[in-house]
Amino acid sequence: MNYKYDYLIVGAGLFGATFAYKAKQAGRRVLVIDKRPHLGGNIYCENIEGINVHKYGAHIFHTSNKEVWDFVNSIVPFNRYTNSPIAVAPNGKVYNLPFNMNTFYQMWGVRTPEEAIAELETQRKEAIDKMKADGISEPRNLEEQALTLIGKDIYEQLIKGYTEKQWGRDCKELPAFIIRRLPVRMTFNNNYFNDYYQGIPIGGYNKLIDGLLEGVDVQLNVDFFSERNYWEGVAAKIVFTGKIDEFYNYRFGKLEYRTVRFEFETLDIANYQGNSVVNYTSANVPFTRIIEHKHFESFGNSVYENPKSVISREYSVEWEEGLEPFYPINDEKNQEIYNKYSALANKESNVIFGGRLAEYKYYDMAPIIAKALNLSGDEL
Ligand code: UDP
Repeated sequence: MNYKYDYLIVGAGLFGATFAYKAKQAGRRVLVIDKRPHLGGNIYCENIEGINVHKYGAHIFHTSNKEVWDFVNSIVPFNRYTNSPIAVAPNGKVYNLPFNMNTFYQMWGVRTPEEAIAELETQRKEAIDKMKADGISEPRNLEEQALTLIGKDIYEQLIKGYTEKQWGRDCKELPAFIIRRLPVRMTFNNNYFNDYYQGIPIGGYNKLIDGLLEGVDVQLNVDFFSERNYWEGVAAKIVFTGKIDEFYNYRFGKLEYRTVRFEFETLDIANYQGNSVVNYTSANVPFTRIIEHKHFESFGNSVYENPKSVISREYSVEWEEGLEPFYPINDEKNQEIYNKYSALANKESNVIFGGRLAEYKYYDMAPIIAKALNLSGDEL
């Protein structure tokens, strides 16, 4: 059969756009389609009052992979943004994140690593002893993981409420690995990430996506599933980055996702919260965090050059039809369903699955790019 394209890429997010870039470089004919009216998937930004607003939530690029860092910087230079969120706790106080010496000082008044370790050890031991008494050797869920990692005070003030709001589930029902994403540090260092490299594209994320897709055929507002037979006939191979359960008509059941509802507000205030990310860790505050978008790209007092600011409050909700799915819920039940789809996907010879939705994996941006680069290296 004569195909118009070598690859049809379903989804113009980071995985699809990176694969498209490499395929085009390799001289392949590529078409990218996306059902949304814009490129970029969830990294898409909209310029409001001169501020790049992350329409689908804060995206902060971080990696220790030099190849990935060099690759994205070859498309658009990145700035030196460092993520240091703060948390407003149920007790009304403000704490530094991730959990580090500043947090321990704020929580317990301890000034040296030795004092902090002693306090942490006391609280951790309490949790470990309790588990042992119940005959449990390894943390079975997020609550046990958090208590044995960081102790009761931090769990109660900074983790429990936030996590249960974000996931809509009890911490006892969530997998332990979610909390292992967060570093625990015995230094006064508020950098949220341990990675070597971190930043935001200068001029915003759209520059990254536009650069990746330059010269590539793209069709927006197009739903693969509404004309599936047609789309399956336009290219020799498909790179599918959408929901894997939908690809297989939900034959093994629906996978669950969390998503976020955003409440955007433009303020006549130059500097609303003094930081890009402020988490609200109390179960009594309905939103999980407030993002003030200008701080991603303007530093220090340069934020006062623009008298306005755009903020977004994030409300975490269960995904349902019509919403954009954000976070896979990698609990046992969903993982079992995913494994069945994945077994089918592994047998496909003309379809490649990649990205958060197709792999049902809580990926950050850099690993997605690494994956797309590796895959394109094998494939092209
Ligand atoms: N988390 C928390 N308190 C916070 C921030 C994060 O307990 O103030 C926990 C929460 O369980 C969350 C996990 O850490 O799901 C990972 O957070 P991360 O910031 O990596 O989530 P993302 O930015 O991907 O939404």
